[in-house]
Amino acid sequence: MEQNAQVYLVGAGPGDPGLMTVRALELVQRADVLVYDRLVSPLVIEQAPPMCELVYVGKSPDHHTLPQHEINALLVEKAAPGRSVVRLKGGDPFVFGRGGEEAEELQAHGIPFAVVPGVTSCIAAPAYAGIPVTHRGMASSFTVITGHEDPSKLASSVQWEQVAQLKGTLVFLMGMKNLPIIAESLMAYGMPGDTPAAVVERGAWPAQRVVVGCLDTIAADVAERGLANPAVIVVGEVAALHDRLAWFDPRPLAGLTVGITRARHQASELRTQLEALGAAVAEFPVSRLAPPTDPEPLAAVAAAPASYDWAVFTSANGVKTFFRAFEADVSASADGDASASPAYSAAAALAGATVLAVGPATAKALATRGVHSVLTPDSFCAEGVADLLSGRLGPNERVLLVRAEDARTVVADAVHAAGAQLVDVPAYRTVLREDGKDDLLAALREGRLDALTFASSSAARNTVALLDGDTSLLAGVPLFSIGPLTTVTMEEMGLEVRAEAASSTVGGLVGAVLGSLGEAS
Ligand code: SAH
Repeated sequence: MEQNAQVYLVGAGPGDPGLMTVRALELVQRADVLVYDRLVSPLVIEQAPPMCELVYVGKSPDHHTLPQHEINALLVEKAAPGRSVVRLKGGDPFVFGRGGEEAEELQAHGIPFAVVPGVTSCIAAPAYAGIPVTHRGMASSFTVITGHEDPSKLASSVQWEQVAQLKGTLVFLMGMKNLPIIAESLMAYGMPGDTPAAVVERGAWPAQRVVVGCLDTIAADVAERGLANPAVIVVGEVAALHDRLAWFDPRPLAGLTVGITRARHQASELRTQLEALGAAVAEFPVSRLAPPTDPEPLAAVAAAPASYDWAVFTSANGVKTFFRAFEADVSASADGDASASPAYSAAAALAGATVLAVGPATAKALATRGVHSVLTPDSFCAEGVADLLSGRLGPNERVLLVRAEDARTVVADAVHAAGAQLVDVPAYRTVLREDGKDDLLAALREGRLDALTFASSSAARNTVALLDGDTSLLAGVPLFSIGPLTTVTMEEMGLEVRAEAASSTVGGLVGAVLGSLGEAS
């Protein structure tokens, strides 16, 4: 019975999270274990609660991460009374999703399960291309067929003679490798070569691409445009309706894979903006945040009330680590003697100060923590901050500077030059993160990246460090820089910068990629 289900076989829809059912979303949001595969959008996975165990069992056509019998066994192993295991699949779980096999396994083990159907790609991908699978006067049925990746099995698993005689629409899933064989087989059994045919790649994803032609040209057209899985093949008169009914805008970065080298906690804004333009995003978090080598200055600021005339934040990371230092301090005193010094908050520390942020992302990080009245310089870099301060700082004013440990001394120099007092707080370091090395190497060697973005000097330095200094691997990839400093760092290391952001923001970086690689450019 549904109420007692321990495992849910759930369809996630074809890509756009908006095409998930309300039921599916509810289940993801309260899952204890989420078992998902390749076709599920990261935006859906993000809906899982923080403590949820995420198990990726994605299968790509050439690279089986986990064989089906092990996925079956995994579901049985994770199932337990009172726990909710959500097995999330692209599209519908029972349409070429092997959900039936998983259900059989659960049933054999007496594990209560439930099925949540999903919007299947065999209807939704054509729909997003303006192709109705049935249409009055054109097609009164549609047939969904496997285009099996293994050509030797294709001949035996599909009854070509019958299929070629069908009057309705044919929709092939998993058929991209065999598209030439599929088209030839249909024609060999009498289907006219001028029958309209379409291929919809990544239907309902921002990166959707569509190619429409005829049965005798479609394979060549698709090869020329380089379409690949996941894609559906639609054969039948309805395919031609795309020309009139297409409604889903192709995005300017559709079909491109853009690599981002930000630390994971900072990547989501960049990812979201790139994906909104249709790019597929590959994350290579080359850096991670670490506490400063000397934690004392930050701890001292958080521990003892003091007032500042100015508080300067040179990054969103600085804002985050600064506020966190106060949380740690508050909880320490809350655990201890009730008569300990009154809790001192970050907001209290900043109360009398004019707060200055290097740019919009830093200002936003402050705003989300309740600090709304913030100045930003005209140019979003240390020089901009220094200029802004120089005009306004009075002698003996106290300036709190919250910065990265390896920051340049531009701002500190300006404070000293004005005769003001500097309370210098190195709040964090960014350190090299080694665990993504293999992914990055593989993506570069296999030529999978159409662009690689750098949102800081340290990201550029850490990327080159991960490659053991071998910058030749980056030679064929257009590289994008967030601003002049990052560009200088990149050029010093021998990297060629394709384009630099017009303003040093995530939006500026995305604009640089768009300007250089966008379809319309
Ligand atoms: N259960 C899924 C199908 C899984 S089989 C469903 O109901 O949609 C995997 C195949 O589905 C892929 O090879 C591709 O043919 C198709 N597919 C899945 N998502 C797709 C998408 N967004 N656009 C086009 N085809 C897709």
